[in-house]
Amino acid sequence: MQVAGIIVAGGRGTRFGGSPKQWRDLNGQSVAAHAAAALAQAGVSPIVFVHHPDDAVHAALIPGVTLTPGGATRAESVRAGLEALEAHAPDAVLIHDAARPCLSSDLVTRVLNGLSQSEAAAPAVAVTDALWRGASTVEGIEPRENLWRAQTPQGFRFAPILAAHRAHSGGALDDVEVARAAGLSVTIVPGDEDNLKVTHPGDLSRAARILENRMDVRTGNGYDVHAFGPGDHVMLCGVRVPHDQGVLAHSDGDVGLHALTDAILGALAQGDIGQHFPPSDPQWKGAASHLFLRHAKSLADKAGFRITHADLTLVCEAPKVGSHATAMRATIAEALDLSPDRVSVKATTSERLGFTGRREGIAALATATLIRP
Ligand code: MG
Repeated sequence: MQVAGIIVAGGRGTRFGGSPKQWRDLNGQSVAAHAAAALAQAGVSPIVFVHHPDDAVHAALIPGVTLTPGGATRAESVRAGLEALEAHAPDAVLIHDAARPCLSSDLVTRVLNGLSQSEAAAPAVAVTDALWRGASTVEGIEPRENLWRAQTPQGFRFAPILAAHRAHSGGALDDVEVARAAGLSVTIVPGDEDNLKVTHPGDLSRAARILENRMDVRTGNGYDVHAFGPGDHVMLCGVRVPHDQGVLAHSDGDVGLHALTDAILGALAQGDIGQHFPPSDPQWKGAASHLFLRHAKSLADKAGFRITHADLTLVCEAPKVGSHATAMRATIAEALDLSPDRVSVKATTSERLGFTGRREGIAALATATLIRP
C-alpha cells in the first residue's frame, strides 16, 4: 500500500503571542519539522506540506517534503494537498496537523492497520475525566461513554477522500467530518496521550520532554588497514599526503574514510563497507573514498539519524599527519555536513611494533556518534 502524507500548517494561531506555534523551536527544529520527520520515519512518502502563503521561508527549511500553499480554511488547505498528490495516485493518505510533533511510528502503524480493513481510520483517546456543563457553576454532568478526543494523523483511501473533499460544502472541523459527510465509515484506533497538539506555551516544554525521552543515541566503531606499496602519496581522510610509498587498494585506499564509513554503518547496524561496495565490483576501482562516506551519510539521513561527531585515529610511523589534520577535519566535516569542531583526527605510532611499526602498512580506527531526535 503506497501511503502519502499531507501536513497541514496553514494556521495562524497565535495563542503563544509570537509566531504561529508550528514554527516555534522544539529541541533545535520547528514543531512542524518534527511532525514531518515523524511521518517520513514511518515510511510515508511523498509528503505534501501545506503552509500559509506568508510562511514559505519557514516551510522551505523542512527537509524531504513538497511545499504547497494553503487556502483560507483548513479544509481548503487539505484539499490543496490532496490535489497536489493526485498525480502520484497513492493508495492511501495520512492527513496530519503540523502542531502535533510527538507522533510515534507505532501510532502511524495503528492507523494504517485500521485503514487496511476500512475506508478510513483515525486515532482518538477515550474521555476519562468527568464532563461538566456550565459557565462558572456546574449545571449538569454529561455522560462520557463512547466519547473520544480526536487526534491526527487521520488515514483515508486516497480516491474516496479526494472525492469527498471536492464534494464538501466547507466548514468541516477535520477530515473525518468530511469523510462522514460523504458516507465513508471511519474506524477509531487507539490514540496516544503523547501525541499532543501544541496549543498553549506549556505544551512546548511537555513536547520537548517527550521527544528527549524518545531520542535514539548510537555510537559505531570502524577499523581499516591497507598495506603500503609502490607510489608517492597516500590518501588519508580525503587529503593527498606526499609519502615515499603508496597503498595497495582497490579504491583510493583511504583508511581513515573507510574506518569512518564503517563506524557510521555500524551505528546504523547496516553491515559494512565491503557489503555496500564489494571490492569485486569494477565500478569502485580507484574510487574516491568520500563516495563511500557520503553513501553512509545518505543511509543515516534516510533512517532519520543525524551524525553529530566523528573521531579518528590514524596508526603509522610515517607519513606524519599533524600538519594535515586541519585539512582532514575540514574534508570530513564537509562530507558529513558537520561543523569542523565536531570532527577529530588524531595520529599515533605503534612504537615500531607490529606491521605499522615495521612500516608495512597503515591502520585507522574511527568512532561515529549518531542521534535520531
Ligand atoms: Mg579499506
